[in-house]
Amino acid sequence: MGASIQFYGPEPCLPIPYNITKRVIEGITERESNTRWNNSTQYRQSKLFLKSFDKKKTKQLMSRSRTNIALVAGITTGHCLLNRHLTVMRIAEDPSCPECGEMETSFHFIAECPMYAMVRWELQGKDSFSVEDLANLSIGDILRFTKETGRLQGGMLPGHQ
Ligand SMILES: [Zn+2]
Repeated sequence: MGASIQFYGPEPCLPIPYNITKRVIEGITERESNTRWNNSTQYRQSKLFLKSFDKKKTKQLMSRSRTNIALVAGITTGHCLLNRHLTVMRIAEDPSCPECGEMETSFHFIAECPMYAMVRWELQGKDSFSVEDLANLSIGDILRFTKETGRLQGGMLPGHQ
């Protein structure tokens, strides 16, 4: 079918190599994804962890087990076994952190809760994380932090493992 298309331009006519076409399409897709991500008013918690499309983090995440992928997805979206989300889901009545009494969101758990200051210190040399620090955490950092705290053992609601 392609051979039936009339070529106009200087000879010889050479096809565009597959890898160049692929790279151009990937670039367009990445730009489009970032535009959508940045313009969206949703995903408030996820945006703390992911500032933009990140090929490296995607690879890091997809090389993990399904359980760990679910754990990271839960933490970064806020849809996990922390009390704020359990209260939204009407599974629990108290959204506070059992350790310090603040609202137990993913941000509180990873960045602020004084109970886990030592784990943060061992991981990154800081007792609390800023919003900028969160975006720089690797997938491995998030998993190590979560496992060291023991707060989300099991990681998912019963019946979802
Ligand atoms: Zn706390």
